[in-house]
Amino acid sequence: MKYKCLSIAGFDGSGGAGIQADLKTFSATGSYGMTVLTSLPVQNTCGVRSCYDIPLSCIKEQLEAIFDDIRPSAIKIGMLFSTDIIQLVTAFLIQRARGIPIVLDPVMVAKSGDPLLQADAVEALKTKLIPITSIITPNLPEARILVPGYNNKKTLALKLLELGCGAILLKGGHEDSISSDDVFLSHDLTETLSVPRIKSKNTHGTGCTLSAAMASFIAQGFSTLDACRKAKLYLYDAMLHSKDESIGKGYGPVHH
Ligand code: PLP
Repeated sequence: MKYKCLSIAGFDGSGGAGIQADLKTFSATGSYGMTVLTSLPVQNTCGVRSCYDIPLSCIKEQLEAIFDDIRPSAIKIGMLFSTDIIQLVTAFLIQRARGIPIVLDPVMVAKSGDPLLQADAVEALKTKLIPITSIITPNLPEARILVPGYNNKKTLALKLLELGCGAILLKGGHEDSISSDDVFLSHDLTETLSVPRIKSKNTHGTGCTLSAAMASFIAQGFSTLDACRKAKLYLYDAMLHSKDESIGKGYGPVHH
């Protein structure tokens, strides 16, 4: 297996989000998946019951164990939870992951409303981690927290790009429109990616799945924009497939 993807993210024992969703997505899209666990939320489709910390030394050791052995072709970063974890992961990646494309899903709140990032960690995300990423994939509420004071999607995308990342995929999933329209913006390209909106309660892990699929396609050599296009179609297919399922009592998982 040539394409090796690493997910640095949180846990979801119910299988719909976090590292579980990322591994499934890497496999389903033809890449080999690896994980570094950053946080252990105890959760199911109804919500997060509690959240256990992983010691910083353990996160560092997990990163070292992977990088001493297997160089990832692309990295996806999800839930990081605290300033300390963001600083540790950023410092490690600056030292050891030069040249590896990084997709960051700036996870803040779960669909159930539970926080997945401490409020005081937003600053470290903006100033430390985002500048070393190839692309970030905020939804609209996350974008408005990262760059407060802007509403229009194109302006938000421009302001996000000024944080120093290589590109933005600003997701329109939270809008109330007949299509789901995401704005892609890099320093030389802009494009709106659209698919028909799927009305479904089964949306747990949509953001994780999309960003993992993007990392997988980037690992396989697709340009960042093509990886976004392919990942969006992959997620659309998975949502169609999951639409009428009943796994769990809450927001069911999106999966293939
Ligand atoms: N749990 C973990 C570990 C996550 O990383 C995420 C999102 O990225 C979620 C839960 C929330 O998923 P959703 O908002 O799709 O329910």
